[in-house]
Amino acid sequence: MTIRLLDSTLINQIAAGEVIERPASAIKELVENSIDAGATKIDVLIREGGRTHISVTDNGSGMTPEDLVLAVDRHATSKLPDGDLFNIRSLGFRGEALPSIGAVSRLSITSRAQEAESAWQLDVEGGAKSPPAPASFAIGTRIDVRDLFFATPARLKFLKSPSTELTHIVDILNRLAMAHPTIHFSLKDGDKQVLNYPVGVDRLAAVLGAEFAENSCQVQAERETLRLQGTTSIPTFNRSSASGQYLFVNGRPVKDKLLSIAVRVAYQDLLSSNRYPLMGLFLEVSPEDVDINVHPAKAEVRFRDSTMVRGFVINALRQALQGAAHRTSTTMTEEAIVRFQPSTPPPMPSPSFPPRPANAYTSQPRLGLSRPFTIVTPTYIPLEESRTSPFMTAPAAPPPENFRLGLARAQIHDTYIVSETQEGLIVVDQHAAHERLVYERMKAEVAHKGVKRQALLIPEIVDLPQESLTRVLARLPELQTLGLILEPFGKNAVLIRETPVLLDRVNYQKLIPDLADELLEMDETVSLKEHLHEILSTLACHTSIRAGRRLSIPEMDALLRQMEETPHSGQCNHGRPTYVELKRADIEKLFGRR
Ligand code: ADP
Ligand code: MG
Repeated sequence: MTIRLLDSTLINQIAAGEVIERPASAIKELVENSIDAGATKIDVLIREGGRTHISVTDNGSGMTPEDLVLAVDRHATSKLPDGDLFNIRSLGFRGEALPSIGAVSRLSITSRAQEAESAWQLDVEGGAKSPPAPASFAIGTRIDVRDLFFATPARLKFLKSPSTELTHIVDILNRLAMAHPTIHFSLKDGDKQVLNYPVGVDRLAAVLGAEFAENSCQVQAERETLRLQGTTSIPTFNRSSASGQYLFVNGRPVKDKLLSIAVRVAYQDLLSSNRYPLMGLFLEVSPEDVDINVHPAKAEVRFRDSTMVRGFVINALRQALQGAAHRTSTTMTEEAIVRFQPSTPPPMPSPSFPPRPANAYTSQPRLGLSRPFTIVTPTYIPLEESRTSPFMTAPAAPPPENFRLGLARAQIHDTYIVSETQEGLIVVDQHAAHERLVYERMKAEVAHKGVKRQALLIPEIVDLPQESLTRVLARLPELQTLGLILEPFGKNAVLIRETPVLLDRVNYQKLIPDLADELLEMDETVSLKEHLHEILSTLACHTSIRAGRRLSIPEMDALLRQMEETPHSGQCNHGRPTYVELKRADIEKLFGRR
């Protein structure tokens, strides 16, 4: 076979395969060009999901007819003035987008440079370019892309329905609009206005909703040449996918692995692994410390010092969350209020309050918003109970101001603590709250002096299946650092000699097999340190005050005081809230007093 050079149309079609995957990617390239051209208003119009028509109009610098001719040639760019790939300040730099789009569609560019007297238009059809002709147009540029992929039918077949393509287009425009708040963006689908973001509209709030604004905290951090700022949701406000995560590096929307992992790590012990926080995060790095030329659509980046960036982002997020550590999602309270409304039909007579199974927190957690929150007023208080109930007792002293979680007044269903605060009332899930406390304390012990141990009066023997036993035995020295001293016992059991002091009243016959299961899921070559949070979570879950355990008022108050002192006590290890709050105003609303 003889070797030949490919012709330029073919080369451009090949490039288009990488750069222009679908209408949304064409729009991304065109809008980025408008941004680079200094536009302050960018209007996008599409028809049929962008397949038959895409039009992007801007009021940017425009192009002269000479520029127009060059712009559609491969590797022609006005950016990269000093040819330094490590000092890129524009969004574009490859000079690939226009020739790629021109090679696979019918492209028409109308443009008028700022100081020019008239506009010019240039057409490219399937890679064939016509000479520029005079046209009429105000200042700026309009690019029309018709019949995208008509020249590459194979790619055309991969297009999804217009509504799916529209979703992708909305997503990319949202991202670009968030990154450029000083530009007015709009999107029309035919006659229908889909997006409109004038300057001054908070795009993050517009995209993620008012609830996000209420359930998020500000992130602001700086270290050497790194800067991170943005807004991130508190852990109890989460989603089942990462679709609410908007990440930017130097004003460029990215879907970057390193950053996604940093987010994951920052939330790892605040959220179950199948739930995702929502956020808009803007990372600024000095241009020479980041390589943006690693992905054809520039969606990924590579940092010179990735460990440092990762650590920085994790710390910044943790610090922000620490500040919001006691908050729990307002949506929970709102749902609860809705359920309290007198118009709601009374709950089914039985069981009015299904008891939570003892192992509820070790099984697959059903989380956050999807879990209907039910506070059902007890239908009766048994006489025995009511005599000792604090409801009957002498009027209690009002809760002191510094007790943010108030004073315990009652325990209901042996599962929930009701406390009176200065501003209203709080219902605490005793198991979830205690689990969090034990977990945070163990974490602190591991990080500081090491886990305090105590010897069991009578060593306990736990039988294990062979496979689990092998895994546990292989981890004995590591388990010791977590305060668990085990030794092999016979052929299919371990003997427990010492345990962490914090693990109080634990059923080891359940805990050790659970731990073994967890070890089975882990890569043998990875140290337990890497999985510390999972392991501690498992231990904490087993040691917690179970739902269904009767607590005295002083015990409940002690729990509330500990919660006040413990970071992240507003949610359990799976991202569920540990308590919900009804403000006095909420209660008054329920009774029509407001
Ligand atoms: P790149 O953006 O990587 O330079 P493109 O193929 O996207 O490559 O664009 C080629 C050139 O065309 C740009 O460098 C720019 O000079 C010019 N250009 C494209 N779109 C516009 C626009 N909307 N306004 C002004 N100039 C533009
Ligand atoms: Mg470009």
